Amino acid sequence: MLKLSRAHVGDEEKQALCRIIDEGYLGMGSEVKAFEDDLKNFIAPGDDALHVACVSTGTSALHLAVQALGLGKGDEVLVPTLTYVASFQAIAATGATPIATDVCPQTGCMCPKDAEKRITTRTKAIMPVHYASGYGDLDAIYALAKRHQLRVIEDAAHSFGGFYRHQRVGATGDVICFSFDGIKNITCGEGGAVVSRDKAVIDRVSDLRLLAVAKDTEKRYTNQRSFDLEVFEQGWRYHMSNLNAAVGRVQLLKIDTFANKRRDLFKRYCTHLNPIYVTPVMIDIDHAVPHPFIIFIHHDTTVSLDVTANKRNALMAYLADHQVQSGLHYKPNHLLSYFKQDNSAPFPIADNLWARMITLPLHCHMTDEDVQLVCDLVNNFMKN
Ligand SMILES: *Cc1c(COP(=O)(O)O)cnc(C)c1O
Repeated sequence: MLKLSRAHVGDEEKQALCRIIDEGYLGMGSEVKAFEDDLKNFIAPGDDALHVACVSTGTSALHLAVQALGLGKGDEVLVPTLTYVASFQAIAATGATPIATDVCPQTGCMCPKDAEKRITTRTKAIMPVHYASGYGDLDAIYALAKRHQLRVIEDAAHSFGGFYRHQRVGATGDVICFSFDGIKNITCGEGGAVVSRDKAVIDRVSDLRLLAVAKDTEKRYTNQRSFDLEVFEQGWRYHMSNLNAAVGRVQLLKIDTFANKRRDLFKRYCTHLNPIYVTPVMIDIDHAVPHPFIIFIHHDTTVSLDVTANKRNALMAYLADHQVQSGLHYKPNHLLSYFKQDNSAPFPIADNLWARMITLPLHCHMTDEDVQLVCDLVNNFMKN
């Protein structure tokens, strides 16, 4: 079976884990501090104004980012409906309400015009998602935020290592959250990070990840911990361990190799897929590091979207029959019972993409022949 995604880890990661085990301090300690410094140097070399806090997952990064901005019950956060449910759960975990927005048809990213229509007096922040590693109209999102005095939390789970306007993702912007789970552009096993130039936000995230024990982070960095505690608010056990950080540090050394491989595979797909039948998600492939490879099958407007969704499902079954795994990224959150939107405008673009989307395998173990095989299968199926 050709898998949809797969981590690329090996002997260097094993050695790093063994080193931490030999050192004997497995929890959050100096290795986490070292990973944070590495991330800082990677994202914005020589720039001391950027701050990084590593946490247990991408979801906890988003949750703590929202909390650290002081949001909670009664506040609303705009978020594109086309995202992993993690973005919605992270907002809801603070007591704030996720307000779904529609997306742009080519990129699948938040539509700034639709977002603006959904702003109310309770709106406090916008959470754009770098869907399929694209940035969408991020400048328009920041302009919108400025006009309405909103904070921005970027869900950059898909886009680690990419460049936006010639700077690494995370180097500019308000608050940026990354995921290092098992299948993302780099992995820690599980992990995440919050990045910002707002030191107060990162200081607060640093406390919140350790049950809000004030200043515990500084102790942990020297492989110690606080016993005479002080706590001012609700916190969580969301810190990163030395074991996870050690894997992340090795992976970070390989990011450019991974990035080139992923870009090559993406471009190869685009060359071999027949544009008469399918359209790949639009991203700036020369500057992004593609995480999922998503295509949209074409919809014949003389039939219903359900007919097209059935055809897409049949394509997935056909691929599975030929030992190729495929996926769906993502079921729009406004269709989930828990996140059903009250009295809101419809989501025609997201509904359309949901019927047409299919995610094809993309990972660093793949060969050019693997891509060719998948393209031949897709083109062949769609021809009939
Ligand atoms: C993976 C992902 C997350 C959550 O990250 P985890 O590390 O798995 O918790 C959030 N948003 C998006 C878009 C993701 O793909």
